[in-house]
Amino acid sequence: MTLAPKPTHRIPDIGIYERRESVVRSYARSMPRQFNKAEGVWMHDNQGGRYLDFLAGCSTLNYGHNHPVLKQALVDYISADGIAHGLDLHTDAKAEFLDALESVILKPRGLDYRAMFTGPTGTNAVEAAIKLARKVTGRELVIAFTNGFHGMTLGALACTGNATKRGGAGVPLNHVAHEPYDGYYGPGVDTAALLEQRLADPSSGLDAPAAILVETVQGEGGLNAASPEWLRSIAEIAKRHGALLIVDDIQAGCGRTNGFFSFEGMGFTPDIVTLAKSLSGMGLPFALALVRPELDQWAPGEHNGTFRGNNHAFVTATAALNHFWNDDGSFQVDVQRRGQLLERRLEKMAREYGFSTRGRGMMRGINVGTGETAEAITTACFNRGLIIETSGAHDEIVKVLAPLVIDDAVLTRGLDILEEAIRETLAISYGLVAE
Ligand SMILES: *Cc1c(COP(=O)(O)O)cnc(C)c1O
Repeated sequence: MTLAPKPTHRIPDIGIYERRESVVRSYARSMPRQFNKAEGVWMHDNQGGRYLDFLAGCSTLNYGHNHPVLKQALVDYISADGIAHGLDLHTDAKAEFLDALESVILKPRGLDYRAMFTGPTGTNAVEAAIKLARKVTGRELVIAFTNGFHGMTLGALACTGNATKRGGAGVPLNHVAHEPYDGYYGPGVDTAALLEQRLADPSSGLDAPAAILVETVQGEGGLNAASPEWLRSIAEIAKRHGALLIVDDIQAGCGRTNGFFSFEGMGFTPDIVTLAKSLSGMGLPFALALVRPELDQWAPGEHNGTFRGNNHAFVTATAALNHFWNDDGSFQVDVQRRGQLLERRLEKMAREYGFSTRGRGMMRGINVGTGETAEAITTACFNRGLIIETSGAHDEIVKVLAPLVIDDAVLTRGLDILEEAIRETLAISYGLVAE
């Protein structure tokens, strides 16, 4: 490991944030350090501290920090004066990305989508998807689900369940119905059947929807993983009632749940898929809505945005597709094995300490009952050099979003730290050790 470069100028102390940064900041509060370097699964602060990253930019860094192949592609491109910004003009970088998307991702999976480059954040891809669904169907209502998270701009926020986030809107968030997600009423209630009943009943009061918007695993809403059967039913319901099925794969996609898409092999094909987070592969802003060609009914510029062509992100995304997805599937084999390791270890902890687990693939967590306990555990992890966050309606789930490229041994070490932190926290709350 090389040391962080010595600063050649004065680095302001942490007080600059109190003085000049908006109080809206959030992650920085639970990790009050100043970071200056990262590679692979490790982050470093400017006091020499090293941290194992089990947050990975909320699944934006599936291939780790500064992956050498992606970094080299970007450095070469910048050094050759490649186009950085070109609105939505044709560029070599864009053509190469579209070509890789077609040959590495779409064709091998028998999928036929057009790529709509939206503004570079996930929420903008969701906005584009629901606008298109409303335009194509001529309907207003979007059906989203309890505990869903889809972004922070008004349209996407209306589809988000969380009351605190919704409260920031300051205006009514409407034209969305929040239906119960898979398992919302416990294992005995088939919520897809309930939705079908309401949509089929002309007197239920539920309007015909433009779209059904769903996450296959709810990233922010508690790592609830829908069953393939439930998702298939939802896809059939959408079709039967003339609504478009939008899968928001912003967090669960790009390998997090094994396939490139989270719905692979489940026997249905979404009409629209949103991607962002790990799409660029290196943490650069980049979002897409993939739309079935017959739905691509926009007028030119009808959904617009200055940063729709982040060419640096095209370059790193292309490098990621070619490096991780364009071979015999060895990356997926590794990710699957790590996901099983993670599952076994979390299950064991859950049994031992009376908790339960959630999630799928490399997107899993442990429900520790309350937000206070979860926060105590994540704080104890941070003090031991492990960056990890919470999820869920009450922030009661400790969620593991390790980079997918993590070595099995390092993953195990991180889970050891998590277990130590759980033990310490429980001992304190049971009064077994003096505080
Ligand atoms: C993060 C996320 C979004 C929003 O993406 P931003 O880039 O933060 O706007 C939307 N949907 C899901 C499922 C997400 O995880």
